[in-house]
Amino acid sequence: MAEPQTQADAVTMDKIVSLCKRRGFVFPSSEIYGGLGSTYDYGHYGVLLKNNVKGQWWRAMLQERDDIVALDSAILQHPRVWEASGHLEGFTDPLVDCRACKQRFRADDLENAACPRKPSVHPGEHSECDLTEAREFNLMFETSIGPVRDSASTVYLRPETAQGIFINFKNVVQFARVKPPFGIAQVGKSFRNEITPGNFVFRTREFEQMEMEYFVPPAEAERWFKYWVAERERWYADLGIRPDHLRVRPHPAEELSHYSKATSDIEYLFPIGWSELEGIANRGDFDLTQHARFSGETLEYFDQATGERYVPHVVEPAAGADRAALAILVDAYDEDDLAGEGRTVLRLHPRVAPVKVAVLPLLRRDGHPELAREVFGAVRGRVQAEYDEGGSIGRRYRRQDEIGTPFCVTIDHESVSDRTVTLRDRDSGHQERLPIEGLADELAGRLEREWRTPKLG
Ligand code: ATP
Repeated sequence: MAEPQTQADAVTMDKIVSLCKRRGFVFPSSEIYGGLGSTYDYGHYGVLLKNNVKGQWWRAMLQERDDIVALDSAILQHPRVWEASGHLEGFTDPLVDCRACKQRFRADDLENAACPRKPSVHPGEHSECDLTEAREFNLMFETSIGPVRDSASTVYLRPETAQGIFINFKNVVQFARVKPPFGIAQVGKSFRNEITPGNFVFRTREFEQMEMEYFVPPAEAERWFKYWVAERERWYADLGIRPDHLRVRPHPAEELSHYSKATSDIEYLFPIGWSELEGIANRGDFDLTQHARFSGETLEYFDQATGERYVPHVVEPAAGADRAALAILVDAYDEDDLAGEGRTVLRLHPRVAPVKVAVLPLLRRDGHPELAREVFGAVRGRVQAEYDEGGSIGRRYRRQDEIGTPFCVTIDHESVSDRTVTLRDRDSGHQERLPIEGLADELAGRLEREWRTPKLG
């Protein structure tokens, strides 16, 4: 199948940023102080959406299988961890500073950077440009532990969650009674002092990762690598992302990290072009061997059945929760005409939609709010629901469309007399009458049904 090279739909990154602000998904951070570049705060709907993404990831890792266990390791770890992992030495970008404009650029990307002076040219090409030699810049954030600030107290904010997993390998093998192939999964914040953050939450300095390390007998690593690439691509499609906007890109040999035997990225066709959502790597025995060497601990698996002792190999699917949420928003964004009126609608998979059902009294009198409150009380125990009585019913529908709520339940005159409600479907605008009795079960059932984005036609 030919891959689309541009977004055929209405979405742009600017529209996503403005919708996120308008509807309270994501705000620029520290805004009342003028903002802090490329940092963001998640508002109510953003929290619900990202929690659903992480919840679906946990579900795929834990609930739907029995070979993966959970972990939540500390953000601050012993500094030797980052020596062993190679982050202290290798996690660097070469940078140049300009003494004239005080800006900093990636030395290996000058052709894509712009000097801030006019006329706009690449850094170094303007008559006043005065670039320093390229210097290595470590992407890890440094801080110190305790009241005395010296080299002995230096610690780092973790730049990935993976190392927290490797340093707990022994604990997990001992206490979780697992046997390769098995995985350890973790979700949490990571920090990188990115030189070129940008494109909204696509690349920020503080972000959330969803990483799983899958420990396997060495001879099985290649098979499991292929398995996880396919499995992870399917996960995104199962969350409603159009399959023709997803692709797997194997890394050529020259792009592989020093530890990696093979890596493939799962990419999404963002408005900025194909970009990484997740990387799946066959890391061999690099991590366990390094930590064994640096810590002096034996990090092996002893198979009592065969008497065999070995260092398991690791296959790692490493995803970003913010990037996944952004891809889901971009893929869901749509503009259409409903009953002759233009609207913006997020066609989110019901599983990730922040709010599943909105309960709306038609009027603020005649017993509508009281009955609507009763319905809301019954529904909210089953699914994430919202009560809204402000503004015309049309405006309230538009509001719910913009945050991607799959169903609206409206309480009107008829409801008061015969205890039925109108159920409105977000995607089609179709309305039907349903009894209040059993409504919560009915809605929970419909939300579980298979869903396919109407954007696929
Ligand atoms: P990139 O090439 O985009 O910098 P990476 O290959 O360095 O990413 P990994 O170290 O493989 O990324 O991290 C796994 C995942 O974590 C990425 O696929 C991405 O989803 C997420 N991620 C990494 N860096 C950032 C960031 N600065 N902001 C948001 N998410 C990020």
